[in-house]
Amino acid sequence: MSDNPKVGFISLGCPKALVDSERILTQLRCDGYEISPNYDNADVVVVNTCGFIDSAKAESLAAIGEALKENGKVIVTGCMGHNPQEITEVHPQVLAVSGPQQYEQVVNAVHDVVSPPAHDPYIDLVPAQGIKLTPRHYAYLKISEGCNHNCTFCIIPDLRGKLVSRPLGEVMAEAEGLVRSGVKELLVVSQDTSAYGIDSKFGLGFWGGRPVKTDFYSLVKHLGELEAWIRLHYIYPYPHVDKILPMMAEGHILPYLDIPFQHASHTVLKSMRRPAHAEKVINRIHKWREVCPDLTIRSTFIVGFPGETEQDFETLLDFVKETRIDRVGCFKYSPVDGAKANALDNHVPNEVMDERWDRLMEVQQKISAEKLQTKVGQKMTVLVDEIDDARVIARSPADAPEIDGRVLITTGEEIEPGEFLEVTITGADEYDLYAEF
Ligand code: SF4
Repeated sequence: MSDNPKVGFISLGCPKALVDSERILTQLRCDGYEISPNYDNADVVVVNTCGFIDSAKAESLAAIGEALKENGKVIVTGCMGHNPQEITEVHPQVLAVSGPQQYEQVVNAVHDVVSPPAHDPYIDLVPAQGIKLTPRHYAYLKISEGCNHNCTFCIIPDLRGKLVSRPLGEVMAEAEGLVRSGVKELLVVSQDTSAYGIDSKFGLGFWGGRPVKTDFYSLVKHLGELEAWIRLHYIYPYPHVDKILPMMAEGHILPYLDIPFQHASHTVLKSMRRPAHAEKVINRIHKWREVCPDLTIRSTFIVGFPGETEQDFETLLDFVKETRIDRVGCFKYSPVDGAKANALDNHVPNEVMDERWDRLMEVQQKISAEKLQTKVGQKMTVLVDEIDDARVIARSPADAPEIDGRVLITTGEEIEPGEFLEVTITGADEYDLYAEF
């Protein structure tokens, strides 16, 4: 087990309570906590209670008592939390009490007892801003842990080991539970989403009474059967990614690919130990857009990798211009303790890195502004994230939460977060769209 904080979890009650438990556990895992199988190892224990009948209440109180005795730090949630005195009269030592579906309160109570691990952009799957409970209408779905690659700037394989995929039946059960609990968008995350199932040799599992293969194609196919937007993150550019583009074109899942290409220069990619065929990648991107013209591609790049020359950097700039990648996250190289890249020669001075970062972002901003401008006048479906004063803040299929743009809507209507709206785009800037409902 890693050094990450650990949460013990006891889930009592009916299937609805189980869905609540899954929702809380999903969020805790995304925040970096591990789920402990026993009391001794846990930094805190959450008890999701049932308060339906007297015997269920008695069972819940007994479970709380046992957790207090064995661990001492206990947070209570679920149906019995409707009436907190029933719990605190018997167990005044409990640290917090919340009711059913009060996910935010439970997760915040865990944060208060033991802070989540600090965000590390090199190893975390969820953006820093995401280390809070996601709003109820979207959720991250983690499909695997670890990675089989050896990128020289990354220590994930050392920290988290080789790829271990969750069986597809288990992933689908969690996804279905999240959708049942009101989630409208699932963000599929892992260290290497397109490698899903390779470790288990694409073994068979079961979902909905039928056999399902644990592989990337079946994952996308079955997730697409749910009543939710499905967004894929952290795709490695394997050839089999091509197969899912028709499903995107047909609207089965969102036409959105998050592929961290990291660089485009052959020399830099080789020294990163990443696939080093930028020309092939360019051709594939053009083909993907032929199959799915609405495709949004998001990517991340590292500038200033050790040994990156001005010519290497210009190759990267040309790649971004040629492929017109829709969304770009750009990181300045910084050494990670234990990464092999630290031993490479010719580290790039900070001022050169800063200058390259500015140049890349300037090119990207222009591409983004031009591409968004072409959307003015279009009608599109957006998902509402929040209401801020009189303004509705939503996202289009091209926008992942926290990292991409927004659609800002002026309307006098009563709108709730989590609603889908059909809007007309009336304006655009570098990153955001403006719309009317
Ligand atoms: S693909 Fe490379 S960067 Fe991504 S987790 Fe694996 S080793 Fe790290």
